[in-house]
Amino acid sequence: MLTNEQIQQLEELSLPEGIAHIAAMFPGKVVFSTSLGQEDQVLTDVIFRNKLDVKIFTIDTGRLFNETYELLDRIEARYRNKVSIFFPEAADVETFVQTKGINSFYESVDNRKECCHVRKVKPLNRALAGARVWITGLRAEQSGNRQQMPMIEWMEDRQLYKFNPLIRWSFEEMMDYIREHNVPYSPLHDKGFVSIGCAPCTRAIEPGEDARAGRWWWETSHKECGLHSTIANVINKQVEAK
Ligand code: SF4
Repeated sequence: MLTNEQIQQLEELSLPEGIAHIAAMFPGKVVFSTSLGQEDQVLTDVIFRNKLDVKIFTIDTGRLFNETYELLDRIEARYRNKVSIFFPEAADVETFVQTKGINSFYESVDNRKECCHVRKVKPLNRALAGARVWITGLRAEQSGNRQQMPMIEWMEDRQLYKFNPLIRWSFEEMMDYIREHNVPYSPLHDKGFVSIGCAPCTRAIEPGEDARAGRWWWETSHKECGLHSTIANVINKQVEAK
């Protein structure tokens, strides 16, 4: 386990130094999950340009925007490196679609959570298997329920550390980095899409709206997909047990 002193030291390092430091502490056991949004593109740039010992992966739910697939191509061409892609289990998707319907996530919260569980959470569980550190591109500004999130936390349920090195970054700091390093990003961001997920569940937002307002906008309840929320993980486990 990391000591409080080690955690504090990690928090005081620059972004590249912090990731390099944790990669050296847990060789071969550090992974980064990218959903290919702007925050994640900053981290991909840091990891690939500095050749850090961190495995980068993404989850192809099968419902992503074409712009997201094109961005994957651009990343590979730019950095001459590959992002590992995890897919849902075919049998899970077939069962879900045949029993609930291809776009049934619009019909009920349960259906939406089940779709996210099949297409996102289960592949994530496979991708994280064996890892000791999970790096994310979460920023506190993105959502009210991320305000209290620490930079590094132990996840008892997953038995790993979750490292959020951008947690205190502002939007302006992120954009400065992107411009300064000419980081490739999805053209959807320039059309009002702030948080980009699956195509049928993401819309552009209006100025002044919460950054997460464009995700599952038809729902009024807790809006997370289950990747980062302990509450949502519990709900997803309940759905899985049904
Ligand atoms: Fe399914 Fe929408 Fe969740 Fe994607 S975001 S996994 S399409 S419910």
